[in-house]
Amino acid sequence: MKLILLGAPGAGKGTVAKMLTQLDGSVQISTGDILRGAVAAGTELGKQAEAAMKRGDLVSDDLIMGIMGKRLQEPDCKNGFLLDGFPRTIPQAEALKGLLARLGIKLDTVVSIDVPREVILDRLTTRRTCSNAKCQAIYNVKSNPPKKEGVCDKCGSPVVQREDETEAAISHRLETYNQKTAPLIGFYEKEGMLLSVNATSSEAVIAAIKRKLGK
Ligand SMILES: [Zn+2]
Repeated sequence: MKLILLGAPGAGKGTVAKMLTQLDGSVQISTGDILRGAVAAGTELGKQAEAAMKRGDLVSDDLIMGIMGKRLQEPDCKNGFLLDGFPRTIPQAEALKGLLARLGIKLDTVVSIDVPREVILDRLTTRRTCSNAKCQAIYNVKSNPPKKEGVCDKCGSPVVQREDETEAAISHRLETYNQKTAPLIGFYEKEGMLLSVNATSSEAVIAAIKRKLGK
């Protein structure tokens, strides 16, 4: 499968991506991973990206597209890929369209995972993370609490709510997502590529994708 996964923070993109990669050997590609990969490999584009990040600048779309282009031509993408968290903006979507056309790659579909705001807020504000940087075990006060409240089962360090997972922070992230990324849904709808799934379970999302692709 060659897919783009769209969804707000907390919509479950990561879980769905993992299940899809296990299904058919597709690789999951996120902008963060490929940037880190290019920097670590010391490629020319990686060096430019590293310099931008060291200056505290955003890595430009041109640079990201260059790195993305190289990544998509690696052999492991032959079985398929899932773009996770990319594109984020209309200009990136336009650039990606051009890149895929140049590489002769045809996307199967663009999946938008739509989860109600209350469900996302509930999911993320109940998450707790082990404060030990080497452990970072994840808990949920409702569905998966540590055995002793506030203490990590694995390493005994305090289990805390991350600053970016408070209700105020999540509301802000959802707003940013809606402003910047939600227009992509309109873009891919016009392209006739959009599969919108209203589902709060990852299994239901996978089932909808399989139906759409006839797999
Ligand atoms: Zn821990």
